Amino acid sequence: MLEVRELTMRFEQRVLFTQASLTVADGEIVALLGPSGSGKSTLLKVIAGLLDPDEGRILLGNVDITTVPTHRRDIGMVFQNEQLFPHRTVAQNIEFGLRMRRWNSQRRAERVTELLELIGMSGFERRRVTDLSGGEAKRVALARTLAPSPRIVLLDEPLTGLDRELHDQLARDLHQLLRTTATTALVVTHDRDEAAVLATRVVAFADLTPRLPLAEAGDLR
Ligand code: ADP
Ligand code: MG
Repeated sequence: MLEVRELTMRFEQRVLFTQASLTVADGEIVALLGPSGSGKSTLLKVIAGLLDPDEGRILLGNVDITTVPTHRRDIGMVFQNEQLFPHRTVAQNIEFGLRMRRWNSQRRAERVTELLELIGMSGFERRRVTDLSGGEAKRVALARTLAPSPRIVLLDEPLTGLDRELHDQLARDLHQLLRTTATTALVVTHDRDEAAVLATRVVAFADLTPRLPLAEAGDLR
């Protein structure tokens, strides 16, 4: 489904990762586990098309999308500390991507109702997002990303900033939601327990890159 092939990313002189490779199969929820500053957010932005890699390819469903613009990639992303549009209602937030895709109002309303049901927030259509609790806001951000049914969803530390009990509850709910909707997902986190609850497979960020430097590997003929 998603195939990341030997991506290399540098910022000025600093190499963030070299030849990072990863495959996410259809229906899988892969958690990428790595410490803060290791390049997880950067990798997701490259996959989403918000940053260009220095080297490497990205394939989605066997199609090379490395140079396809973000909005045509059919990839959903929930950013670290995702912000909702403060002046819009819950429904208006969720239907944002559907408007961009020119869904008519009836289809949009039906999809919003369906998603609110999925996230356990039926009836919240007209609520102001500024009145939501932290956990509710996270759910709405997720619903907004899931609404257009992207082929894969990228989640960047989706549960940070919640207190322990709510965090654990939401981790279980998120796993269930992704499974119920058969959503393929790549989630990055620094939290080992969270990764275990969320994912169907956990991968260490450090294991994406080959252990031998290229020169040495070339010498092993
Ligand atoms: P993580 O998400 O794992 O915490 P990031 O991908 O956010 O890591 O960042 C990895 C490193 O790259 C950090 O040291 C960060 O300061 C640096 N970095 C991120 N974006 C840029 C940028 N646009 N220019 C230069 N350095 C950056
Ligand atoms: Mg990050």
